Amino acid sequence: MFDIKVAKTAGFCFGVKIAVDMAKKAGKDIGHAYTNGPIIHNKQVVSYLENLGIKELQDYSHLKSGDTVIIRSHGVEPEIERKLKEMDINLLDATCPFVKKVHDKVRQLVKEGYFVVILGEEGHPEVVGTLGHLEDVGGQGVVIESFEDLIKKVPKRNRIGVVAQTTQSEDFFREAVGYLAENTEELKIFNTICDATSVRQEEVKELSPTVDVMLIIGGKHSGNTQRLYQISKALNPNTYHIETAAEVEPDWLKDVYRVGISAGASTPDWVIQEVVKKIKDIRGAQDE
Ligand code: SF4
Repeated sequence: MFDIKVAKTAGFCFGVKIAVDMAKKAGKDIGHAYTNGPIIHNKQVVSYLENLGIKELQDYSHLKSGDTVIIRSHGVEPEIERKLKEMDINLLDATCPFVKKVHDKVRQLVKEGYFVVILGEEGHPEVVGTLGHLEDVGGQGVVIESFEDLIKKVPKRNRIGVVAQTTQSEDFFREAVGYLAENTEELKIFNTICDATSVRQEEVKELSPTVDVMLIIGGKHSGNTQRLYQISKALNPNTYHIETAAEVEPDWLKDVYRVGISAGASTPDWVIQEVVKKIKDIRGAQDE
């Protein structure tokens, strides 16, 4: 019997929910506000919010006193926050509490004299914000994306502190910490991967090997979606990363009996439901 199993944790995490609700409310109450970059890595939600008057900020110099800026869940460098306050901008802070925790831990590590290793993606807005906090307290550190980076980029230091981008893979975190533990005299570790990320990754690890085809739904630029895809692909080669129902290929579903679905933390429920419907329609037509 044909079956579609949607992961319980698929879709919006609580941090994204807070940010999207804040943006919706600003759209309805003020009718016009900016976000510092796309509010989440999901084009469909971004264009829905654009229709409510929530636009992505292209250039800070275009802002005028009294404008509203929503700081998205990825957070922002403290310097930018200060600049916006000086410009008399109305700030709505949707920085996820898990991201704030990374900022706090980095500041603590610098205060305690550690060189900071950030296990994350270079240039990702969350990591840029975290580096801003590191610099804000005069700290030194490095962003590490891969095991090769660890060997090449981490300087010889006696005291190293570790944090992770909130959407980092648990497996890479453990691998990196293991390496650093063997090569550092004193290591202080904060596992700052958020619950929403680790729970989703665990569920994908369980679900993916039990299905014929696994679909991971989410923005192509969404770090946590990409991680879910990589985890699933390693366990089930018939894994596909899609953004919308339009990308589901009938060929993937031929002679398939069990389809698994998970979705990144910035994928709205209605997009997941559209994918489920598309799969049912395709399979229905194939069985006729
Ligand atoms: S993925 Fe985690 S850190 Fe990012 S917004 Fe969601 S709950 Fe917050």
